[in-house]
Amino acid sequence: MAVLNPITSQQAIDLENTYGAHNYHPLPVVLNRGEGVYVWDVEGKRYYDFLSAYSAVNQGHCHPKIIAALIEQAKTLTLTSRAFYNDVLGKYEAYAAQYFGFDKLLPMNTGAEAVETALKICRKWAYEVKNIDENEAQIVVCKNNFHGRTTTIISFSNDPVARKNFGPYTDGFIKIEYDNIQALEKTLESNRNIAGFLVEPIQGEAGVYVPSEGYLSAAKALCEQYNVLFIADEVQTGIARTGKLLAVNHENVRPDILILGKALSGGAYPVSAVLADNTIMNVIKPGNHGSTFGGNPIAAAVAIAALEVVKDEKLAENAAYLGELFRNELTEFAKNNDLVKLVRGKGLLNAIVINDTEDSDTAWNICLSLRDNGLLAKPTHGNIIRFAPPLIMTKAQLMDCISIIKKTITEYKQ
Ligand SMILES: *Cc1c(COP(=O)(O)O)cnc(C)c1O
Repeated sequence: MAVLNPITSQQAIDLENTYGAHNYHPLPVVLNRGEGVYVWDVEGKRYYDFLSAYSAVNQGHCHPKIIAALIEQAKTLTLTSRAFYNDVLGKYEAYAAQYFGFDKLLPMNTGAEAVETALKICRKWAYEVKNIDENEAQIVVCKNNFHGRTTTIISFSNDPVARKNFGPYTDGFIKIEYDNIQALEKTLESNRNIAGFLVEPIQGEAGVYVPSEGYLSAAKALCEQYNVLFIADEVQTGIARTGKLLAVNHENVRPDILILGKALSGGAYPVSAVLADNTIMNVIKPGNHGSTFGGNPIAAAVAIAALEVVKDEKLAENAAYLGELFRNELTEFAKNNDLVKLVRGKGLLNAIVINDTEDSDTAWNICLSLRDNGLLAKPTHGNIIRFAPPLIMTKAQLMDCISIIKKTITEYKQ
């Protein structure tokens, strides 16, 4: 078999099974093309993408403006490393820093790397600015968090599948309940060594848990009171997904450290970043931190284009508008359907909770039926299905998707 000859879905699945590590359990569908809100499988069947690569493809698949920037830069200069300057990184840093309203940006590649970067900056700030004793700094995190897959990040996860047999774990993290402002207050007032509070404005992987209104602003106020850095992991919720540029904008919260990834490139390239003001970012000196690919010219050119698309095409406004419509329609539907317990979310980051136990395979089987009916989604945890289409979707397309979802669930036989 010549490597580049077309293959069937089954062949592709078999190859991955045989030669790839089994670190994922994909829905059985093999894609080979994407455009806008659509993807196609190798047999030519078209689907609505209702996952958007975990919200990396907010701007839609193969957005022409982003791909043009990618190709143009790929033909010109791809990588210099940070041993030398390149003529795109500074432009990107200036553009993105102003775009999100921070003094500085530190460029990385993946979300997990950006989270690691934020943790390092926070600890260094704790020792050099807040004057916490060496090696005593603690960072508060929330139960059921998802921040990535590195050894340090899984050290403060409570998902046994993500953690078990990967120890020993990194110290220095205190886990509290999400959406519980008293728990945060108690922790901050009883411990003088707290450097930061790392939080997802909406817990995406956990099942799209939207905290109570006022939680984020109250948490930010507490952080200010106790001189603790509020670190927002907006890798999934950021870049217009929830109907605002950032999910923290819903509560007018300005994080001390902002973590971005995923849609920062519109899914065209791995691009992540940490943003902060000088008082915080200036603790990082040459040699403290880095990445060979971080801030490379392709990443920088792609990210500028991806952010421009978000503004030009008013993706936050569209996500807010379509998200309302989606939740209203499905909430109404759920009233008369026993299989759907509830619908929740913000903007176009939504989930339905299936009326079954967490270890049931009902959500998975519904996703297989959705696939058969031309819409791709994936369960997050057992009985929860996340719905996160590209934000460039039109109202007509969304109505079409809503009818696919209703029809699939109505016809579903357990
Ligand atoms: C996806 C995600 C990450 C990790 O990003 P990777 O690019 O997969 O390393 C971190 N935080 C949140 C909230 C995410 O959704």
